[in-house]
Amino acid sequence: MNFEIFNLSDEINKALVDHKYSETTPIQEKVIPLVLEQKDVMAKAQTGSGKTASFVLPLLNIWQKDVRVKKAKIKQLILTPTRELTIQVSNAIKDFSKEFDIKPKVVTVIGGESIGDQLLSIQKGCDIVVATSGRLLDIIDKKQINLSTVEHFVLDEADKMLDLGFAEELDLILEQLPVQRQNLLFSATYPEKMLKIASRITKNAISIEIENEEPTVVNITQRVIQVNKENKSPLLQELIRKNNWNQVLVFMSSKRASDNLANKFRKYGFLAESFHGDLIQDDRNYTLDEFKKNKIKILFATDIASRGLHIDDIGCVVNYDLPRSPADYVHRIGRTGRAGKKGMAISFIGLEDAAHFKLIEKRCEISLEREQIEGFELKGESIQKEKGKAPIKGKRKSKKDKLREQNNQKI
Ligand code: AMP
Repeated sequence: MNFEIFNLSDEINKALVDHKYSETTPIQEKVIPLVLEQKDVMAKAQTGSGKTASFVLPLLNIWQKDVRVKKAKIKQLILTPTRELTIQVSNAIKDFSKEFDIKPKVVTVIGGESIGDQLLSIQKGCDIVVATSGRLLDIIDKKQINLSTVEHFVLDEADKMLDLGFAEELDLILEQLPVQRQNLLFSATYPEKMLKIASRITKNAISIEIENEEPTVVNITQRVIQVNKENKSPLLQELIRKNNWNQVLVFMSSKRASDNLANKFRKYGFLAESFHGDLIQDDRNYTLDEFKKNKIKILFATDIASRGLHIDDIGCVVNYDLPRSPADYVHRIGRTGRAGKKGMAISFIGLEDAAHFKLIEKRCEISLEREQIEGFELKGESIQKEKGKAPIKGKRKSKKDKLREQNNQKI
């Protein structure tokens, strides 16, 4: 479908031409008209589906129609799970409004950068705030932001926020918003927990799901290789050398493992780097830029890289360690096969991962053949994981404990 059908402003249409967006993606086709009609939406949208433009374009159109030349008020609040996604959404807003006579003032509110600059931009007056919840709450705590004028609230990649124990933070943010507002929710999956949160945020939301959309992106070949833990690193080297992949994103379960393996691979002569939440923001930005420019060929990363990174040329994603949740699996592999290109996702599974991967397959409604690579065949008996101890009843974590735990998350 062509974008013309939505009657977006000339300035937005011009930006669409500049971006070479000629046809809508299925999610855009369904979501854009609903946003323009000011409906609440609950969209099941995979990463790479074009969901960012599905809310950015109509919200900009609404903003532009309503703009007055006086001090800006925060009309739109967009929450995302990671700093990178926040920056990308902000950039999309700036890009699509670059032809406007009066441009919206967009403030990006994220941790790892000077809070002073962000406060100053908010005080000067801004129209759209794109934020991660932690830093936004810091600013709310300081009573330095007025969100009572918000008319449109977007939660992007909401299921990822659930993983981070986000429900309480969300409540604190919702308290700041007026009751009358439009709510747009985007999530790759809608588990029970997500539906509960959704019912608290949205009112009579229209559910959007793209028919026939596979839980994982169709142009990605998914492979599963059985390999013992100690052979994962040599196998990865062998695969990279043999397959000549342009760029490889390797997901690790911890920051330390990510650093260690990047070091090891550099010693072996690979252009490798590590990317995780412990790096200061400048380093995170720099590493991503270098990866985008192809100066880094192998990026070892924690799940912080599984959402929202717009790099169109990743030839292969490797799950060196399996993700914790099926939703993370979908997000991780969605980093390859972008912008219509073919992609490859390989998961290494050892003896201890068999049951967990079966669960991922079940939830994602996929069934993948197990491969073994000559010289790296899996040895030993399959291991049944011991069940963890049940939590002690009556010992609920305090809000502070949960926040602290979140800060200490491995990513
Ligand atoms: P998203 O799912 O929002 O992360 O978008 C995935 C990628 O698709 C981004 O690189 C977008 O620039 C691109 N994209 C989104 N919508 C369109 C469209 N209608 N035509 C071409 N590319 C698009």
